[in-house]
Amino acid sequence: RVYLDYNATAPLRPEAARAMTALFEAAAGAGTNPSSVHADGRAARKRLEDARAGVAALVGAKPADLVFVSGATEANNWVLARAPVDGLAVSAIEHDSVLAPARARAAAEGLPLVEIAADGDGVVTPAAVAAALDDLAARGARRPLVSVMVANNEVGTIQPVAEIAAEARARGALVHTDAVQAAGKTPLDMAALGVDALSVSAHKIGGPPGVGALVLCGGLALDPLIAGGGQERRYRSGTENLPGIVGFAAAAEAAAAGLDAMAGLGALRDRLEAAVVATAPEAVVFARKAERLANTSAFAVPGLKAETQMMHMDLAGVSVGSGSACSSGKVSPSHVLAAMGADADLCDGALRISLGWATTEAEVDRAAAAWGALYRRLAGSSAPAAG
Ligand code: PLP
Repeated sequence: RVYLDYNATAPLRPEAARAMTALFEAAAGAGTNPSSVHADGRAARKRLEDARAGVAALVGAKPADLVFVSGATEANNWVLARAPVDGLAVSAIEHDSVLAPARARAAAEGLPLVEIAADGDGVVTPAAVAAALDDLAARGARRPLVSVMVANNEVGTIQPVAEIAAEARARGALVHTDAVQAAGKTPLDMAALGVDALSVSAHKIGGPPGVGALVLCGGLALDPLIAGGGQERRYRSGTENLPGIVGFAAAAEAAAAGLDAMAGLGALRDRLEAAVVATAPEAVVFARKAERLANTSAFAVPGLKAETQMMHMDLAGVSVGSGSACSSGKVSPSHVLAAMGADADLCDGALRISLGWATTEAEVDRAAAAWGALYRRLAGSSAPAAG
């Protein structure tokens, strides 16, 4: 099979598998509590702190600022639901793990919330963020929180987070960014971004699922998420998921070393899009003109449903994604495409093809051929035969 759904989850990197296997096989390895004071516990503590440094390096953060959590959904919920702020401004193209807690909190606490639209290329402009903050200020918010992702999961657009953070800070706002899709695909430097909090997830970079991190620096003071034994600087009690964390760090180190190769995926992505457009000149490639992740392509053909296309690709042995597949497993119209102002008949037709660390040219060509075949079958006899 060909797996081209890296933005949903990346295959486990061999480096992560090896690091976790070694831990599982060590006499007092995976089962050791880093809080134990004996030598085995101290060894586990060292593994934990080495892993913290490895993950922090991928996002340009200080290890001491990083709190391990169960994934980016938890990190995003923690910030959006609990940050000590009096207003929320989130981009309309955020992942549901940002949008849902923001909406729930606004409804429960009566907090003003602005969902900032993206432009037609899928970019949230600093001017749009500034306008949202002015709106919040007019509604009485003095210390709001802005949350804009570094890169979008559906269309891959890279957001001007440093400029957005500068606008936000000038207006007294705190800033969170969901860096899940950017991590390991493009260089990240938390200090240069100028944000107060940043979320990352292991399984998007070739680590195991069920582990992620929230990096907290700057002025965002969060109350502990889980009370108990005081692990993770009292922020998140509970014995740490050491195997997952060790796998996360091994993946982070491999991803950091492979950033150039990731950038090189742009040529394969462009090859795929060229094949799609050659087959179907009416195809719309989303955010094609914007700065995008090199691995991500989202496109639609009027009248072709995403679900049908995915089924055909699946039968042809190619795993791809669509609109909100990463969060629901069911294809629903994309809120991201809607926020970009895409035509309604395209919002439930977008296929997302995302490449990654193990993708080959042959796999991309197989995907393009499979898509060409489904297009000719589904789009009717008017479709061109070649491509
Ligand atoms: N944020 C973005 C942009 C995502 O693509 C995902 C994917 O699921 C998440 C957050 C959630 O991450 P996790 O699966 O670690 O909870």
